Amino acid sequence: MIDGKAVAHAVRGEIRDSVDVWVAAGHPRPGLATVLVGQDPASAVYVAGKQRACVEVGIVGFAHDLAADCLQAEVGSLLHELNADARVSGILLQLPTPGHIDGSYLTTLIDAVKDVDGLTPVSAGRLAKGLPGLRPCTPAGVIELLRRHEVVMEGAEAVVLGRSDLVGKPVGALLLAENATVTTCHSRTRDLPEVCRRADILIAAVGRPEMVTGDWVKPGATVIDVGINRTEHGLVGDVEFASAAAVAGLITPVPGGVGPMTIAMLLGNTLHAARAQAG
Ligand code: NAP
Repeated sequence: MIDGKAVAHAVRGEIRDSVDVWVAAGHPRPGLATVLVGQDPASAVYVAGKQRACVEVGIVGFAHDLAADCLQAEVGSLLHELNADARVSGILLQLPTPGHIDGSYLTTLIDAVKDVDGLTPVSAGRLAKGLPGLRPCTPAGVIELLRRHEVVMEGAEAVVLGRSDLVGKPVGALLLAENATVTTCHSRTRDLPEVCRRADILIAAVGRPEMVTGDWVKPGATVIDVGINRTEHGLVGDVEFASAAAVAGLITPVPGGVGPMTIAMLLGNTLHAARAQAG
């Protein structure tokens, strides 16, 4: 089993050490600004977790909590201010935003050098072109889990279930950059189980509780379950864990697999952003 909590803990420790070295060399502490619009309970919990994680690794957190009924222009002005603020190395606009605010548009206002979520069109373009840049946190966390478990990506058949901008597309691009042979599946893919059975590395990011069952998994394959689904039986992934684990070589649980990696990679991106801005 891939223990995402343990890997994330190790990554956070390494980031804390790197931040110490960075500061000891005379640089200002990296800073992460979070922008939360409204008080959606799940979003508020995520943002609080990100702020706490900053403190743990020596990154300065700037929390901007705006009222649910604020104007889109106010959020835009704040993002412009944060783009210009030298204390802020990274900016994160927590999505989703309330209905009257276009979160997707607002994301485009974040300066690419501070785009620690890796979701702006510039960052997505840099990833697609194979240029250096800030990578989306959850997909980067998936690759980090594979690396640290020495899963061979080069030449491997990788199947990605899902093609969202947040997970599926960037995971596919990152696997391609690792020289995997990548197949991306979505809701119109024909004979999904058959395609999945080809995979040496199977990434599930569909948001459908336990859709992937053991008979979709090639014996010995590595299965990474990105899904987080709240059901009446608690939190489950997109993979039916028991049947898939019986066949897979390596598998992530939910919770405790990919989830903890997302914040760890966000902290890493904030340090990368601070370094890039310092030249
Ligand atoms: P999303 O935007 O809803 O995208 C889901 C993708 O799955 C779409 O490309 C969709 O295809 C495809 N899909 C849906 N039903 C399908 C089916 N029956 N057969 C084949 N493909 C199907 O979701 P997302 O943002 O990528 O998130 C995916 C999952 O990951 C969710 O459970 C989410 O909560 C979780 N997540 C976890 C983390 C983390 O930190 N662990 C971070 C982000 C997301 P179409 O494009 O054809 O509609």
